[in-house]
Amino acid sequence: AIRISDMDKYFGTFHVLRKINLEVARGERIVICGPSGSGKSTLIRCINRLEEYEGGSINVLGTELDDNIDNIDAIRRETGMVFQHFNLFPHMTILDNCTLAPMLVRKQSRAEAEEVAMQYLTRVKIPEQADKYPGQLSGGQQQRVAIARALCMKPEIMLFDEPTSALDPEMISEVLDVMVGLANDGMTMICVTHEMGFARQVADRVIFMSDGEIVEQAPPTEFFETPKHARTQAFLGQIL
Ligand code: ATP
Ligand code: MG
Repeated sequence: AIRISDMDKYFGTFHVLRKINLEVARGERIVICGPSGSGKSTLIRCINRLEEYEGGSINVLGTELDDNIDNIDAIRRETGMVFQHFNLFPHMTILDNCTLAPMLVRKQSRAEAEEVAMQYLTRVKIPEQADKYPGQLSGGQQQRVAIARALCMKPEIMLFDEPTSALDPEMISEVLDVMVGLANDGMTMICVTHEMGFARQVADRVIFMSDGEIVEQAPPTEFFETPKHARTQAFLGQIL
């Protein structure tokens, strides 16, 4: 589904991503972890062109992610993104948050978009919140809306950037449960997270980044039990 080859990215003179090579198959679940500043967010933001890159190539669902705006639009339609801080539209109801993009981008009628939105709000267990505003919901509820909103676009791929790290502890599991459900349904997922229980439960592969490089990648059992690189060992020593 995704093929990143020898990708380099700079912020000015700062070489933030170094020769990234990563292939993700359809239906695969990837967890990315690593120290703060290692480039995890930047990497997944490159996949839907929230960031540009300077060298190498990124191919998403057979489309080359280059400067062609039609390609960028096509890839954005197929990649849902969920952020640490929810990023809901505060002045719109939950339902309107979910129907906006399908109506504008997928050209759905309001009735059609609302029906799909209610299906996904039901799936994340908050259909009764549809007419409220984001500020009236808890953090865990807002994050579940953010996931539902992304799913309303019927994306092929879901990208998660630390979706639970801004949440109070008691709300983390309600969001992880939704993500586990998605994984069980076969969604292609790339999740930046330090929730290692989640990684063990659903990841096909765990990727460790440090200083802009992919240092190590392995299935979760191997990754956690026999990490090979000293930097991975040090990192796991700190967080486990
Ligand atoms: P965290 O775990 O704290 O979220 P991260 O692994 O997601 O960290 P990134 O946000 O990808 O790290 O940042 C990687 C590096 O790039 C950091 O050193 C950061 O300061 C730098 N950086 C990120 N965004 C920009 C930007 N827009 N301009 C300049 N430097 C940036
Ligand atoms: Mg980050």
